[in-house]
Amino acid sequence: MIDLLNLTKTEMRDLFASWSEPTYRANQIDQWVYREHVTDFDSMTNLPRDLRARLTESATIGAPKTIAETESADGLTRKALLQLFDGQTIETVLMLYPDAPGSPEDDAQPGIKRRTVCISTQVGCPIGCPFCATGQAGFIRNLTASEIVAQVLHFAREGSPITNVVIMGMGEPFMKFNVTWQAIQSLTDPDRLGLGARHITVSTSGEVPGIEQMTHKELQINLAVSLHAPDDELRNVLVPLNRKFPLKTLMRAVRSYTEQTRRRVTFEYALMDGINDKPEQARALTQLLRKQLCHVNLIPLNPTTASPYGRTPYERVKQFERILLNANIPTTLRVEKGIEIAAGCGQLRQVVGRKAQETRHLQNERNQAA
Ligand code: SAH
Ligand code: SF4
Repeated sequence: MIDLLNLTKTEMRDLFASWSEPTYRANQIDQWVYREHVTDFDSMTNLPRDLRARLTESATIGAPKTIAETESADGLTRKALLQLFDGQTIETVLMLYPDAPGSPEDDAQPGIKRRTVCISTQVGCPIGCPFCATGQAGFIRNLTASEIVAQVLHFAREGSPITNVVIMGMGEPFMKFNVTWQAIQSLTDPDRLGLGARHITVSTSGEVPGIEQMTHKELQINLAVSLHAPDDELRNVLVPLNRKFPLKTLMRAVRSYTEQTRRRVTFEYALMDGINDKPEQARALTQLLRKQLCHVNLIPLNPTTASPYGRTPYERVKQFERILLNANIPTTLRVEKGIEIAAGCGQLRQVVGRKAQETRHLQNERNQAA
């Protein structure tokens, strides 16, 4: 079976050429899959019946099954646990923002102006950051380009357009750079999902070869780097990939990226009580980021059940922020979304694994409602 979501545009055209079909079939299918969001070939009414039959026999359109879904009390964050063909599960989160200026209102949900999907690139993660639920669960496998794109389609299929994508779910997106990049191409291609490159952000724990590859890409995707510590000694513990790509190597790659692209990099820094939140660590961070075109995103840690790390109290978060701002480093506190629905990276999967009976099983509810 060929999963059409795994094919680049060229591969799609080659497929139809090999079937002696005109190449515009590729565009027609893209339209159905990425614009109309259909998941079966019978709905593709402008295709000849025999082609539809051939597609049904030999191809699929990736659509993982929803096995659990949680929603925050304010209804603005929804997290889906999706099951892949081999039974593995991944998390995908939809975040609604009522107040983004400039974009049109959503007809289906008045007041909502930005719909961001947070997607995963791996089942689990091999980096093993000790504060992260995904890292704690270990690594199982990489996702295919289809499985990455299908997460955006999952929410797009509900009918409201997706405006932004953040590649900040489970996994290190640059470990399989080409797969992640193929997915990004399907997200941005005007004939496919057609998202603006500037509306897509990819977050890496510091996989330097990926940053170097991004430096040479034309698509203006936003880059975020998970820093979490201002020195190698601590970062070796919090982000173990630092042992392979220490801060000097990482910062050299980031500097080269910003110099060549003239694009600002976001540094993510999750504040952990007594670990990386001291004033002297904030000052060390200002030294590390001196003259670097960047923006710092401070994230109060979302504590996971299996980690010893706690969240920095608000007062000290503000103190840390002030030190950065006083050094003229643009800094924001991440608006926390969905903490109460375990929306932290890998946390729904952890919860479902631990006490499945307490999680709302949407699929069952839908079946009962049908
Ligand atoms: N693996 C990539 C992208 C996914 S994680 C990376 O690490 O960058 C997205 C962000 O959430 C990262 O900055 C990550 O460090 C952070 N994160 C993970 N677990 C967290 C937690 N429990 N609380 C706060 N931030 C967390
Ligand atoms: Fe992997 Fe990112 Fe979690 Fe670290 S924070 S374990 S890199 S998903």
